[in-house]
Amino acid sequence: MNRVLEGNVRAGSLAAKTEFVPVGEPPRNQGSGDVFGQNREELNRESLQSKTQDETANWRGSMKRAIRSAGELRRHLNLDLSAGESNGTNAEDHGFPVFVPLEFAARMKPGDPNDPLLRQVLPLPEEANSPDGFSSDPVGDLHAAVAPGLLHKYHGRALAITTGACGIHCRYCFRREFPYSENSSRGDHLELALKYLRENDSIEEVLLSGGDPLTLTDDSVAKLMQQIESIPHVRRLRWHTRMPIVIPSRVTDAWIVRMQASRLTSWVVVHCNHPAELDSETGAALMRLVDAGVPVLNQAVLLRGVNDDVDVLESLCRRLIDLRVMPYYLHQLDRVRGAAHFEVDQECGRALVSQLESRLPGFAVPRFVCEQAGQASKTRL
Ligand SMILES: *Cc1c(COP(=O)(O)O)cnc(C)c1O
Ligand code: SF4
Repeated sequence: MNRVLEGNVRAGSLAAKTEFVPVGEPPRNQGSGDVFGQNREELNRESLQSKTQDETANWRGSMKRAIRSAGELRRHLNLDLSAGESNGTNAEDHGFPVFVPLEFAARMKPGDPNDPLLRQVLPLPEEANSPDGFSSDPVGDLHAAVAPGLLHKYHGRALAITTGACGIHCRYCFRREFPYSENSSRGDHLELALKYLRENDSIEEVLLSGGDPLTLTDDSVAKLMQQIESIPHVRRLRWHTRMPIVIPSRVTDAWIVRMQASRLTSWVVVHCNHPAELDSETGAALMRLVDAGVPVLNQAVLLRGVNDDVDVLESLCRRLIDLRVMPYYLHQLDRVRGAAHFEVDQECGRALVSQLESRLPGFAVPRFVCEQAGQASKTRL
């Protein structure tokens, strides 16, 4: 792993990859001494540890410094403080607290209440609207739970809710009311989830979701991976995460190296809705993943006032493919209570995607889908 310290993750990965273990056996831990000599290994372990600590301090510091109230967010962006918000309390967050890392807030335009990034995170009075058809569990997740924190809806893949924590709170989140405390695969629950995975050999892909699995530390992530690696029929891990977008320093060498050392193939699916989310640091973090041999896909949610515009979507997709990130899905909004004001009419969504098809290479056009409870896959629209 020494090469990582010289800043060359790619070379490090090749060394790690030659260490592949046969399917079914847990992989050896990093730096087990089989590839490098003993002394080198110890030296490397020490420097990797201190580097890991620095890396962790970075992104965890960003989580600590994040903006946590609508008042604070408004002040930060020089927006008018309307009555009742000036004290920075969470009075109007509708039970879903504001959480915005400063890195993300820095990509917003100060003084613009309609900024597309701000709209994703600032609570509005419209959240109190609750039209028919909008509910707390719009995609039937609670029915798809096969163990605490484990959803098995689709053939061959199961989704683990690893944590309830996220690196940002998106107002349109379909899990904004999800009862995480009873339904995440942590602690005692984890054993039950692992048992289900072990006993169902049709599952070859485990999706790590949440919340956001990358709010866990690299140590926790490594432990979780080790447990999944011990299940012979699982071949792939899919990381569903918004962290590389909102706090790009979370793309640590420790995480990358651990993925490369695994017998499991990792795919990363990030979540970015607007081209302004992709600043240079985020772009660099995504490229580091791709350079390290990890395929990266993007999913976006179609959101009124954010990206319901063909030029915006085109520019998002173009920027993504320039970074070698594949646009995967464009999701029709899940009808979660509090998010009705974000909904874009399906016809309008279809028209946007067909305009994209006339402007972009085929591989740059995301599939427009929605999630329907009880279906065998996401539904193409
Ligand atoms: C979306 C989703 C998946 C993954 O679906 P893909 O079409 O393979 O991306 C898996 N499990 C659950 C519960 C999901 O919601
Ligand atoms: S990062 Fe994902 S899970 Fe977390 S609040 Fe945003 S949409 Fe929801």
